[in-house]
Amino acid sequence: MMPAPRLEVDLDKIYHNARTLVERLASRGILVTGVTKATLGSAEIAAVLLRAGVNALGDSRIENIEAMRLAQVPAVMKLIRSPMLSQVKRVVMHADVSFNTEIAIIRKLSLEAQKLHRTHGVILMIELGDLREGIMPNDLVNIIGETLSLPNIEFKGIGTNLACRSGVSPDARNMAVLSQLAASIERTFSLTLDIVSGGNSANLQWALSGEDTGRINDLRLGESILLGRETVHRQAIEGLHTDAITLIAEVIESKVKPSKPTGNIAQTAFGEAPPVTDRGSIMQTILAIGQQDTDPRGLKSPVGTEILGASSDHLILETGSDDRSVGSEMTFQLNYSALVRAMTSPFVTKKMKLQRTL
Ligand SMILES: *Cc1c(COP(=O)(O)O)cnc(C)c1O
Repeated sequence: MMPAPRLEVDLDKIYHNARTLVERLASRGILVTGVTKATLGSAEIAAVLLRAGVNALGDSRIENIEAMRLAQVPAVMKLIRSPMLSQVKRVVMHADVSFNTEIAIIRKLSLEAQKLHRTHGVILMIELGDLREGIMPNDLVNIIGETLSLPNIEFKGIGTNLACRSGVSPDARNMAVLSQLAASIERTFSLTLDIVSGGNSANLQWALSGEDTGRINDLRLGESILLGRETVHRQAIEGLHTDAITLIAEVIESKVKPSKPTGNIAQTAFGEAPPVTDRGSIMQTILAIGQQDTDPRGLKSPVGTEILGASSDHLILETGSDDRSVGSEMTFQLNYSALVRAMTSPFVTKKMKLQRTL
């Protein structure tokens, strides 16, 4: 018997998704940085992304980059979250490039890079409205000036990140601002920017709309490759697989029970509302998976079944007339939140499947 719960990762489908996006964006002059943070630095998935033609790998955690280095994944590695001051040495040792917004951190990167006799690439992130990380555009000239003066630091380019915190959509207007900033930085400092990184999976609609993509020559893609969806409206992307990764859990109880609890009702384990309507008796199935393994609200159960609730270790479903015997398994589709938690849970086995020889 296979261990449960488990994530099944279809590497052929991930290859297809990555390859398709790499090709579509290439026709717009845009390279892809494959983002691995939702895979916990899986060397197998990283290898598939590289074979599909991504130009570099990006991860927000130095631990994941270290894991991929240890597994000898041959790629340019970018740390796409600002380094912690307390991790700067590890960042210089293992990442080729990091995204930065604070000069104090860039100064420390320079000091550590000098000690280690290495050069570290810096991409400066710019705030364009989503209010997560980013330098305010008015402060750019000062920070770039000092970055250029620091030994063992190579100023590689600029980038921005939209959609993640406030849901601000990448569009012709904010992307044009990024292109204009790129041009004005090049004029002011008489240099050429290697990388102008326009954003993440939320940028795909804009990038593939046929509109002018200006100076943007890089997008950092994670969710769209793994789950086959753009992230502005979470629509499936035409021609991509949305089921490359599935979550499988095992039935530990299956009984006909009342739909409405009995007794004085107070709080549930996770503060959610208990069921209140009486729909008579239902077929209730319990799976051995819960909040410790995934985000139950991000799961989609098989047709004809419905998720009723979850606690730390139990997922409760109504399974209609289907007989879900103890020991049988059920397969779920995941959203990004459910995926990230399942990937990082030590209780969830990761099973990589590869049919075709890539
Ligand atoms: C997570 C992340 C990405 C990738 O986002 P997706 O929506 O998964 O494509 C890109 N850039 C940064 C800075 C990120 O943190």
